[in-house]
Amino acid sequence: MEKLNGLRCRECGRHYPAAPVHVCEFCFGPLEVDYRYDALKGVVTRESIAAGPPSMWRYRDLLPIEGAAAVGHHVGFTPLIRAKNLADELGCREVWVKNDSVCHPSWSFKDRVVAVAVTKALEFGFDTVACASTGNLANSVAAHAAEGRLKSYIFIPADLEQGKIVATLVYSPTLVAVHGTYDEVNRLCSEIADKYRWAFVNVNFRPYYSEGSKSYGFEIIEQLGWQTPEHIIVPCAGGSLFTKIWKAIKELKTLGLVDGPVRTKMHAAQALGCGPIVTMIKNDTDVLVPVRPHTIAKSLAIGNPADGYYAYKAAKESGGAGEHATDEEIVEGMLLLARTEGIFTETAGGVTIAAAKKLIERGVIPRDESIVICVTGNGLKTPDALQDRLETHVKIKPSLSAFDRALADLKSQTS
Ligand SMILES: *Cc1c(COP(=O)(O)O)cnc(C)c1O
Ligand SMILES: [Zn+2]
Repeated sequence: MEKLNGLRCRECGRHYPAAPVHVCEFCFGPLEVDYRYDALKGVVTRESIAAGPPSMWRYRDLLPIEGAAAVGHHVGFTPLIRAKNLADELGCREVWVKNDSVCHPSWSFKDRVVAVAVTKALEFGFDTVACASTGNLANSVAAHAAEGRLKSYIFIPADLEQGKIVATLVYSPTLVAVHGTYDEVNRLCSEIADKYRWAFVNVNFRPYYSEGSKSYGFEIIEQLGWQTPEHIIVPCAGGSLFTKIWKAIKELKTLGLVDGPVRTKMHAAQALGCGPIVTMIKNDTDVLVPVRPHTIAKSLAIGNPADGYYAYKAAKESGGAGEHATDEEIVEGMLLLARTEGIFTETAGGVTIAAAKKLIERGVIPRDESIVICVTGNGLKTPDALQDRLETHVKIKPSLSAFDRALADLKSQTS
């Protein structure tokens, strides 16, 4: 089955053969993978998907690779959890958490995009992969490059969390720490990508890379029994995950795999210290005003998001909204999810929980509707965010009497 028509410009619609390119030569619009949905209809079914592996590759027919996955065989198909305790706390009827804090192998949803991009790099015959990263992408590119026996160059802002740096270096990439913001790193990478024949997963491979995010959306719908939820709250950095979850829902609808009408409203979550997409949605304007990031949510700290305009459009089209979270609210969000559901997410997850809470309190998300909260990264990578926020533990000598005394003290404090 021939499933791909190559690439297509998102602005002027011009077609391009499948190649490692990402910008339209005529209008400078971004290129997107173009599928032959007519050929896929009736071939991709609920049964064919269910017969696939318990990973994102059960959706291989809707991803832009020609052969089998070359790396990341266990990426995806993460739990969708009915978050009963969180729902009670928020006063809501039905809350779900899509938990990519446990996505293999590098504990964030970035494994989905990287598994596609690195497989594609091997299909196009590249021997080197690279990326500009806010942290999680660095971890994932380095891990998948190791698995695929490729060289890797990873570019990060120098002020990244130590946990994210260690979780990159362990795979022996060439890690380049740039004294600047992510947006400056990204601009530098565009120049490097023009000069060296490397597969920059989020520059020249962006059309393929971004498609991997669709699997996160496909899984939500499949795990809900092929129903669309009424609300999905998504953390945004470049805005790609947000647009691709929306695309995934529309593709499943096109293929006749969704029960009933699509009723999902897509809501964007960003930090107040770096929230240009949410600002567009709040101000109801399609003009993105870049910002200089200042937030503890470093994995979301992109001041000039590549897909900001398209994320705004998807929010509008679906009838969704957006909300910002302060650093304080981000930490509260992380603690709330941990306390109610036993899930330790990173700052990005804190942003999403905080934004969801505010949208519910504002009445934008009605309490009796179905809500999916996207948790996209693991908290063990960013312990720094919580370090001085947590109560110190009880310290005692190794004797029963010491413990009895400590327990009595604790009880008197709480009574
Ligand atoms: C990169 C990232 C996002 C946002 O991804 P975009 O597709 O760039 O919007 C969300 N959560 C985490 C944990 C990330 O690392
Ligand atoms: Zn064009």
